[in-house]
Amino acid sequence: MTRKFIAGACALVLAALAGPALAEPKVAPTPRAVVADNPRDKDHPADMAAFQVDIQGSKVNAILYTAAGAGPHPTLLFLHGFPGNETNIDLLQAVRRAGWNAMRINYRGSWGSQGKFSYGNARVDAAAAVAWLADPANAAKYRVDASRIVVAGHSLGGFMTASAAAADPRVAGAVLIDAADIGARKATIVDAASRQAAIDRLRPDTPPLVATPEGLVAELERDGDQLRLAPLLAKLGQRPALVIGAELALGPANRKVVEAARAAGASAVTETYLPTDHSFSDARIALESEVIRWLGQFDPKSAPRPPLPLTAAYDPSNIFARIIRGEAPAYKVYEDKDVLAFMDRAPMEPGHVLVISKTSKARNILDIDPADLAKVMAVVQKVGRAEVQALGLEGFMVLQNNGVGQSVPHLHMHVIPRVAGKPAYLAENAAADPKDLEATAAKIRAAMK
Ligand code: 5GP
Repeated sequence: MTRKFIAGACALVLAALAGPALAEPKVAPTPRAVVADNPRDKDHPADMAAFQVDIQGSKVNAILYTAAGAGPHPTLLFLHGFPGNETNIDLLQAVRRAGWNAMRINYRGSWGSQGKFSYGNARVDAAAAVAWLADPANAAKYRVDASRIVVAGHSLGGFMTASAAAADPRVAGAVLIDAADIGARKATIVDAASRQAAIDRLRPDTPPLVATPEGLVAELERDGDQLRLAPLLAKLGQRPALVIGAELALGPANRKVVEAARAAGASAVTETYLPTDHSFSDARIALESEVIRWLGQFDPKSAPRPPLPLTAAYDPSNIFARIIRGEAPAYKVYEDKDVLAFMDRAPMEPGHVLVISKTSKARNILDIDPADLAKVMAVVQKVGRAEVQALGLEGFMVLQNNGVGQSVPHLHMHVIPRVAGKPAYLAENAAADPKDLEATAAKIRAAMK
């Protein structure tokens, strides 16, 4: 069952309430990885490595959250802001749950990394981190797919992201989160007073850095023209970039950066703006969802499946037809001459049952004979009662997808246990252990009597 499952279900409910005009959901679904853990992979569990990367003789602290599964995995390099108080670790964890490795470094001279912090050094550090991930020995050790390295960064890190991506064509894509156009600040320094104001603005953020505000402002005055964001973003050309702006912070400035980058050759920039502050304090889930949805383009497995046509000839080779004919196995909970109910192999919740007609060749609810549908629904009701009794449920959900959200072209009703307060997951569920399916089927079957 996939995200389209809920989208399809929502469409069904909305259509029933208000007609087909509301069939298109306005809000994109929250990816499962944002809200749910994955089952533990015993052979290749998710893990964390902490190490140091040597950059021009300084040891830079790095952590790598490695994704579960044999891999190799696409990998996100994350670059923090100035000084990096907002760690964005929640984003990295969610990205890792989505199947990505996620690496984070602290620039030279920040948060205990050796060396001196400067804008120029941080650019070198970002590029070195990309090179470290692409190094065949590191890629093999940490199951990194070097052809799918994406860089993301917040604030100053957004700038560093554009810098690293512009410098290295191995970077497949870039995510700029309320990115700072560092060099733009040069124009605000016109005299001693404005220079002092710039220094005073930086001072509260420098304690975690081996840097002085005076030195950073001097660097800005000297190198500011090379620290402009739009020309770097433009250098991505056809490579995809996601710009996520915070409306209450750098969002308006990001809009102008994107416009200039597009004019200068960036042809695959996606923009989104969230009504929040620079730290996305009240939009963490939205931020994670935007990033993970966008990252989906690098993962063919997660590409949305095209909808099944609503009208088409019945395909007798579909998996449910094979189950009816006994050609494929299923843990059955009920069967009579017209209807079959069996465990979903990838349940949304333990006890998830599918109910199908054995005699109808309907692909969806539009082409089933109402008399056949009535027989199916009578069994849906029985299964619901049995699930409540056998599993001690407080409630359950009946769902049915047509076209969009549907993966098997034989009409089927889902009868799904619900747990109060637990969201209905929106993405692919893991296949259950057959022993668990068998045991749960036995309980429900017994309660059907
Ligand atoms: P749909 O997405 O079409 O609404 O739902 C199809 C459901 O069938 C999914 O929840 C999926 O897990 C389930 N399913 C797909 N293949 C099989 C199978 O071979 N056996 C069983 N028992 N369920 C299956």
